[in-house]
Amino acid sequence: MVRLYDSRKRILVTGGAGFIGSHLIDRLLAQGHEVICVDNFFTGTKRNIEHLHAHPRFELMRHDVTFPLYVEVDEIYNLACPASPVHYQHDPVQTTKTSVHGAINMLGLAKRLRCRIFQASTSEVYGDPYVHPQPEEYWGNVNPIGPRSCYDEGKRCAETLFFDYHRQHNLEIKVARIFNTYGPRMHHADGRVVSNFIVQSLAGKPITIFGDGTQTRSFCYVDDLVDGFIRLMKSEPDVTGPINLGNPGEFSIRELAEKVIAMTGSKSELVFLDLPADDPKQRQPDISRATRILGWEPTISLDKGLKRTVEYFEQRLPELELT
Ligand code: NAD
Ligand code: UDP
Repeated sequence: MVRLYDSRKRILVTGGAGFIGSHLIDRLLAQGHEVICVDNFFTGTKRNIEHLHAHPRFELMRHDVTFPLYVEVDEIYNLACPASPVHYQHDPVQTTKTSVHGAINMLGLAKRLRCRIFQASTSEVYGDPYVHPQPEEYWGNVNPIGPRSCYDEGKRCAETLFFDYHRQHNLEIKVARIFNTYGPRMHHADGRVVSNFIVQSLAGKPITIFGDGTQTRSFCYVDDLVDGFIRLMKSEPDVTGPINLGNPGEFSIRELAEKVIAMTGSKSELVFLDLPADDPKQRQPDISRATRILGWEPTISLDKGLKRTVEYFEQRLPELELT
């Protein structure tokens, strides 16, 4: 396929060796762009991008975004940050630094280059919400001093920085609030519910439900999410977000466990463990803004997405160290 050189961009993806970042890079390369992937491999792995090793338009840089970065690019997607509670609570000070110093460094880079910058924010900015489903206008209910705060408040502060750079320096920003996303290349041991339940089911181990399993989440398949990222990045300059990206289909954690057991034909039993501190009781995105402004809505059902994710973990099972 012949491509116009003008339409090819050099795009920086921070956190590109992670779960979502690696799928985003696949999509950007397929569109003909050049990609620089920056990652410190805290939770991401070379395995997620090993298929790109010899790709002529792909470049990998080991770098920690809490330090300044000097590259020349046309667009920036800032995804670098551990995303699962197990990982972001492992070194909470580094998590806050990654969100806040990382945002300052990437915004500084975008300011020098006068380029668009996308921020992977999160539904966690709504905390344990009193408004359901959550529209972007809702300011949230977040504990500033709890075990999840390094992530929640770090991401909130990053949003503040994005909007201040926009107002103060006229920077073109694109802020997405991502709700629970799943799919192939999730870290098998990062404690997130979809990967946990699938790996436990496939290994015939007990399925660990925290609390009574009545808490809800809305699960978006990664391909749908990446489609939303790209639409947001391409949107008109006055579209800053924040904009919710997620699948509004809402399921209790117990329902999810039962689906995974049925799909894998597993004999695993359900075990009920203590609910972690500040675990939100319910979460469902209001995506009317994304639908109106970006013409975006998810197309992949939970059943279909889970099937693909189960297939991925089935292939990987022999090499996983199961604990
Ligand atoms: P992930 O842990 O798989 O990916 C994060 C990547 O960032 C990893 O490759 C990690 O090594 C890298 N990283 C972490 N700290 C870094 C640093 N200081 N410098 C450079 N690289 C660093 O997680 P993911 O699920 O792919 O999440 C990607 C982004 O999307 C994150 O910013 C996360 O907060 C956000 N997000 C994800 C979800 C979800 O459900 N997956 C939901 C809301 C928001
Ligand atoms: N959860 C669970 N068992 C697990 C892992 C998670 O019951 O093995 C629950 C967790 O308490 C939360 C929900 O599943 O209520 C989603 O957890 P996850 O860590 O995936 O995402 P987040 O809490 O950040 O939405």
